[in-house]
Amino acid sequence: MQAGVALITDERGAVLVDAGQSPAHAREIRAALDATGLPAPRWLVYTHHHWDHVWGACAWPDVEIVGHVAGESLLRAEAARPWSHRYLREQVRAEPRLGPSFRARALAMETFDDFVVLPPTRTFTDELELPTGVRLRHVGGGHAPDSTAVLVPDSGVMLLGDCWYPPPAHLRGPDDGPDLALVGRLLDDDYGWYVSSHSPPMTLAEARAALA
Ligand SMILES: [Zn+2]
Repeated sequence: MQAGVALITDERGAVLVDAGQSPAHAREIRAALDATGLPAPRWLVYTHHHWDHVWGACAWPDVEIVGHVAGESLLRAEAARPWSHRYLREQVRAEPRLGPSFRARALAMETFDDFVVLPPTRTFTDELELPTGVRLRHVGGGHAPDSTAVLVPDSGVMLLGDCWYPPPAHLRGPDDGPDLALVGRLLDDDYGWYVSSHSPPMTLAEARAALA
């Protein structure tokens, strides 16, 4: 899966957007940041609570985890589940529609030793601005109730997470597709780039053309 991960950094500090899909993935990203001399993040923002965005969180030391309040309770429930390869297999046997997601988790996780799911330690309801000027805006939608857009006004970049994608396979109905109207409401002349977690970045013009 490997959802995209962003680091937004200037002299006010570094903000990591999404944690990586596993502790191993997070460590890979940390090593890449270290190699380029980029600072360690002080804040970790969740675009939403899905595993491929948050399961790396326990491998990021000393971060304040910021997420929408709707994700907090969902992640508390996820944190209480007895994650293991055996548990993943049992869950897929009981609900085959979990197969694609849970098999991807099994592949991503070499071991569940020392693994914990971390709910956000700081939550917000509608909007939140971090001390670095990065703005979080709750957008919700059908993919996840806690979907959050991360706005970087200084760079004109908007990180969309998965907010416009259809619901996960096991929750998807026959009429569920991409929510292009939701993206349409987010497009803004002050933002030249739109970055979704599992798609190539788009310019404002490309996003407008894709929605037309
Ligand atoms: Zn997702």
